[in-house]
Amino acid sequence: MKLGELLREGVARLGETGVPDAENDAKLLLFAAFRMDLTHFLLDRGRELSGEEPDASCVACYRAMIAKRRGRIPLQQILGSQTFMGLEFEVNEQVLIPRQDTETLVERVLEEQQERGLRLLDLCTGSGCIAVSLAVLGGYRYVAGTDVSAAALATARRNAARLAAGCAGRIEFFCGDLFEAVPAGMAAFDVITANPPYIPTEAIATLEPEVRDHEPLLALDGSADGLVFYRRIARELGRYLAPGGSIYLEIGWDQADAVCALLEYCGLEAVRVVKDLPGKDRVVCGRKQCLID
Ligand code: GLN
Repeated sequence: MKLGELLREGVARLGETGVPDAENDAKLLLFAAFRMDLTHFLLDRGRELSGEEPDASCVACYRAMIAKRRGRIPLQQILGSQTFMGLEFEVNEQVLIPRQDTETLVERVLEEQQERGLRLLDLCTGSGCIAVSLAVLGGYRYVAGTDVSAAALATARRNAARLAAGCAGRIEFFCGDLFEAVPAGMAAFDVITANPPYIPTEAIATLEPEVRDHEPLLALDGSADGLVFYRRIARELGRYLAPGGSIYLEIGWDQADAVCALLEYCGLEAVRVVKDLPGKDRVVCGRKQCLID
């Protein structure tokens, strides 16, 4: 069998079970199994595979990965990583896979918050994709990330150690429920970010099997109306956001009005909505008034 035929075998196996983007996924799994890139594949696709090492174990590895993908395990969990803001994050079943939607939030923070001396807090940090990319790309003085899941934080810490090692600022993670994780006595933050769970409980069953069955429910389920974490964040925000500080929250496409109302109700100013690349409401931000006597 030739390498190109092996690829086609995988595409067909994925297609049979209705995996979307079968062609793309089979190709990326083949590249991973054979540790090759597109150029090598194009040069090598007519090569007859030998039944011996190293081909034999690469073929076995590819077929095992195809079998997992047929079970609708997300591609990124099989490969073990996902690129976000140009950085490669480790992912596993303990963390939400970083989405391109969330880059909208990070880009907005980087655009509006250019002072290096700022202190940031990222709630529900998961893989740490927001916290780490802000630390790396924004060069801020201090970034704290919190999450209720100790397993997620272990992943976030590994991502920070790998990606943010050379950062000028400090990055730290704390385990606990939203703001409760923040150590007592810590100074208020200049910027707070969060991509909390926001899917209404009933809608979880309608999600793609990759998300519904393999990503952590803890990172998705936002209660009956999907808004419970925004309510809690809005209620507790006052003590943790410094005067003049800003908050940026990722939201579901139909939650902008409700989340804007919550931030306005708790006294924030300049409350606005940012759209993602496909044009859907994706981020709500607001600012705490400066106290000038
Ligand atoms: N955007 C994710 C999804 O659609 C949900 C993320 C979240 O709940 N924070 O699957």
